[in-house]
Amino acid sequence: MLAQSASSDESCDHHSNEMEFDEDEVDKDTIQENRRFWDNQHQLLQATLCRTSSLESRIRHATKEALQEIESVETACGCGRQIPATTCRNCLMREVSRHLQKAGYNSAICKTKWRSSPDIPSGEHNFLDVIERTKRGEVRVIVEVNFRGEFEMARGSEDYNQLVGRLPEVFVGKVERLSNVIKIVCMAGKRCMKEKKMHMGPWRKHRYMQAKWLGPCERDTCTTSLSMMPMPMTKPRPRASMLTVDLLDKLPNMHCTPVEVV
Ligand SMILES: [Zn+2]
Repeated sequence: MLAQSASSDESCDHHSNEMEFDEDEVDKDTIQENRRFWDNQHQLLQATLCRTSSLESRIRHATKEALQEIESVETACGCGRQIPATTCRNCLMREVSRHLQKAGYNSAICKTKWRSSPDIPSGEHNFLDVIERTKRGEVRVIVEVNFRGEFEMARGSEDYNQLVGRLPEVFVGKVERLSNVIKIVCMAGKRCMKEKKMHMGPWRKHRYMQAKWLGPCERDTCTTSLSMMPMPMTKPRPRASMLTVDLLDKLPNMHCTPVEVV
C-alpha cells in the first residue's frame, strides 16, 4: 500500500475519486492560479495551431478548395437521404477525400474502433488522412471536418468555450500537432469540470479523444474508384499488410490454411 502523503502536489489530482471543495478555499490565490492556467492553455494552443509546415498548408488549402467546390455544386447525399452532402458527415468525408485524391494526394477515410476499458467506453470514429512521402519519410496529416464540434460543451465555462472557439472547424495537421491540441483541450476540459464541480463525461477524457484519432485505424481509399481522373502522382501502395495483421490479431481462432487460387 502507498503511504499517505501530506503533499498537496497538483499532480495527485488525476485520481478518480471526487474531490470536495470548500467555498472558503476559493480565494484570491485560486482565482489567480486559475487565470494562469487558462492564459497558459490559450498560449499553448495558439503556438501549436499557428506553427505549420508547408505540407500541412498545402493540404489545408486543398481541403478548403474541396469543401468550397462540394458546396458550390450542391452535391447530393449518397446515402439515400434527401439532404445535401455537406450535411452528411459520411458523404462530406467521401467527397473531400475524392477531391484530395484528384488533386494528387494519397487520401483515405480512416476508421478507428476501440474496446471499452475501466476508463473509457468503447466507440468508433471516422476521419480523413493524407499520407505523403517527403525527404524525411512518410508524413501523415489528419483531416477532421468537424473538429471544433468534437470539443464543444453546452455547459462549458466561459474560459473553456473561448479556448474551444479558437479551434478550427476543419482541422488539418500532422499527427503530433493533433496529439498536442487534444492534450491541451482535454486538460482544459478537465479543469473546467473541476471548476464547475461537475463530473466529466468519459467521452471527454483525454484517453477517449486519443482513441478517436490516434488509435490503430483501418484506411479506406475506395473513393479512388469513384474518381473520374487517374492519379499520376500517387503510386498505389499495398495497404493490406497492416489490415491483415490487425484482422488476425482479432481472430485468434482462425486457422491460416493456404487457399488454392484457381
Ligand atoms: Zn450521405
